[in-house]
Amino acid sequence: MSEQEKPQEVTDDVVVSMEYTLTVDGDILDSTEDGEPLDFLQGHRNIIPGLEKELYGLSEGDTKDVKVIAAEAYGEIDLEALMDVPRSEFPPTIPLETGTELQVKDKEGEVRYATITEVGAKNVQLDFNHPLAGKELNFEIKVVGLRSPTTEELSHGHVHSEDHQH
Ligand code: ZN
Repeated sequence: MSEQEKPQEVTDDVVVSMEYTLTVDGDILDSTEDGEPLDFLQGHRNIIPGLEKELYGLSEGDTKDVKVIAAEAYGEIDLEALMDVPRSEFPPTIPLETGTELQVKDKEGEVRYATITEVGAKNVQLDFNHPLAGKELNFEIKVVGLRSPTTEELSHGHVHSEDHQH
């Protein structure tokens, strides 16, 4: 297929432009409404696998409702990602309340995100699971554009836009 030829349907190595609304537990968490569609390269894990696999064969203008189970989205809740930390290790600026989100540097100096899930007399429990772990995701999607990737996009495995070149 030459680069000029326009793909007719979603296959691997096609750049998909997609509008979507993400609903979790009945709440809209994310939507491209009033914004730009999401562009990504199909078949390169640019988006979550459970959504990507439902897009094959769709054409421009097609809509679809896609339900993605937790295991194919952000994973099941990992009980080992819960950690008890002594209250004394928290700086006074951090409110020790359930639901507080914070950033923690691990031993390698990597920043990790955690949520306070329990506040005890001595310890505070931190949850390092992704906030959407264990959740089923519901996407309403619409394919609004298909094109072939540039040679560079294909070799990088992702889409380049004017403000995102690397
Ligand atoms: Zn790149």
